[in-house]
Amino acid sequence: MYIQQEVYENRLRKCERCGKYKRVLYNVNNMMICSDCIRGIAFYKVFSEGFRDPSMRGDVITVGIDLGNLTWLNPFAQAWYYPILLWMFYRDIGMRFTVEDLKLRWRYKTSLDQVLKAYVEEGIFKIITDDEKQTITEGDALKEMLKKYGDRPDALDIIGSWISGLIISRLHGESEAPDFRAVNAIVNAISEYIDSDGNIKAAPYTKTVGYRCDICGMLIPYKEEAKKHVATAHRVPTDEVMNHLREESVSIGYLVKLSDLAYSLKKEGVKPERFFERVERFGVLVHEDPEEPRVVERDGVRYLVVDPAWFRVLVRTRIYERDLLRSRTRA
Ligand SMILES: [Zn+2]
Ligand SMILES: [Zn+2]
Repeated sequence: MYIQQEVYENRLRKCERCGKYKRVLYNVNNMMICSDCIRGIAFYKVFSEGFRDPSMRGDVITVGIDLGNLTWLNPFAQAWYYPILLWMFYRDIGMRFTVEDLKLRWRYKTSLDQVLKAYVEEGIFKIITDDEKQTITEGDALKEMLKKYGDRPDALDIIGSWISGLIISRLHGESEAPDFRAVNAIVNAISEYIDSDGNIKAAPYTKTVGYRCDICGMLIPYKEEAKKHVATAHRVPTDEVMNHLREESVSIGYLVKLSDLAYSLKKEGVKPERFFERVERFGVLVHEDPEEPRVVERDGVRYLVVDPAWFRVLVRTRIYERDLLRSRTRA
């Protein structure tokens, strides 16, 4: 990819992708785009490569579920999801799936050719032309996902989430696609908590999972039980019992200020109430531990406890973004 930076001293220029006015634009493949759009390209790269990377695969799917829930009612997004839904249906009934089947049912403004082109380029579908019909089969990427997850009852849910994440992040790179503004707002709000080298600046939200006995290594969930264990199993005097126990905790999320999220949403023209309604209904963005709260208060400030998967995906995004900006050649 060819990137060149251009700085306009006293005037603002329009980003050719998102339409925002900026003082610094980058020439990416002969299109002048802004730094937000570069972040979008990096975000897409995480999705398109993430499913092949064992350390990212689960996180990419977790974030993909949220992206699907955020854009589900968007008619533009529905056109992009439709082919995979119909593929699942044909797979269930065990029938051959063809381009003609899609053409017959296509009711969207976005052209089917454009959508199928993306599916083919991403390795989701492969189109085979034989005896006048164009049969749709699994592309390499979808084959790989079926091999990895095919043994599970929730395989199709997982594959659907992976594809929605992949498609939505891909649309960041398409000039004619309208932005999914809530997604941009979240990506920008969380990115503020990660520096350009990928270090997380947000405070973790931790939960105690138990007490570890340093004599035998056993993990005991409750403190009183743990004390009893050390005293009886190892014959330790009562006043020394606590010397042998270490509290163990896990980080279930990171704290993101609600006001930062609301600010970022408003900047993108999204009503914060609409977004928080999706947090309530679908658990978008937040951790998945049913015993822990989604919103916590610290020193009078309210925070959303964000799923660490989002942070890991955006840490990778920030690193790619930095590398993209570094690779530019100065004018
Ligand atoms: Zn832009
Ligand atoms: Zn022990």
